[in-house]
Amino acid sequence: MRRGGSAGSACSDELFRAVRFSPGEEGRTALAGRKTFSILFDLDDTLIHCNKYFDEVIERFASYMMEWFGEYGLTKQEVKEKQLELDLAGIAKEGFTAERFPESFAETYDYFCRKTGRPCPPAERAIALELGYSVYDSDFELYPGVVDTLFRLQAEGHTLSLFTGGVARIQKSKVEKVNLGPFFEDRIHVARHKNAEALDAILTENGFDRSMTWMVGNSLRTDIAPALECGIGAIYIPPLSNWAYDMTDLPKLEPSERFLALDSIGDVPDALAKFR
Ligand SMILES: [Mg+2]
Repeated sequence: MRRGGSAGSACSDELFRAVRFSPGEEGRTALAGRKTFSILFDLDDTLIHCNKYFDEVIERFASYMMEWFGEYGLTKQEVKEKQLELDLAGIAKEGFTAERFPESFAETYDYFCRKTGRPCPPAERAIALELGYSVYDSDFELYPGVVDTLFRLQAEGHTLSLFTGGVARIQKSKVEKVNLGPFFEDRIHVARHKNAEALDAILTENGFDRSMTWMVGNSLRTDIAPALECGIGAIYIPPLSNWAYDMTDLPKLEPSERFLALDSIGDVPDALAKFR
């Protein structure tokens, strides 16, 4: 559910009037009116679709597994649960690597070979792996309202950066595929383990003023919790499709004036306007 552009204009007009017509407050509000922020965006399922491509590939993998193991009573649900379990275990161990997701297919295949005792030709395992890698060939597409929102935030003087998890080469190629490069230039930070420690290092190394910095993302686990821990503002926007990883091992999130939950990315400029 998105709010329309007219609400945004009304909000801006109100701010403008406050600056012009509140003499007692003039100094403070005029200063507030010029505030600009550093805004860090998550990439996957905040700016571009991601989980749905993984879901599609997992569905195809489960179909192959039915062909191979259906006669042993295996169900798609069992395949998907095992794949998720092995995928999450791989991330916990190695972080976000390019091999991790495809290998979770091969590992799932191996698991059911062992469990059923079915003869398992190497060619099938290779198909499983290849299928896993095919997710990186997806045509990535933007979430609704992303370009308009980034344009508006940039026009308002904010500095836009990316804080995303994964492999730098892959994440940067996604940014290029959807033509978001000009918004972020060299401010694309990719962490293999996307957590508070990684975010803290980026904030420190790049001289971010934490009182003027916000993180926008779809993951309570890897976007919001680290942001709050690092003392920056956090804006949570639920994704259009979920991934179990983002929902597990959540620390307690304390309410804070700088912890916002919005319906969609199009709401970000108006939400931030209240802090300027
Ligand atoms: Mg994300």
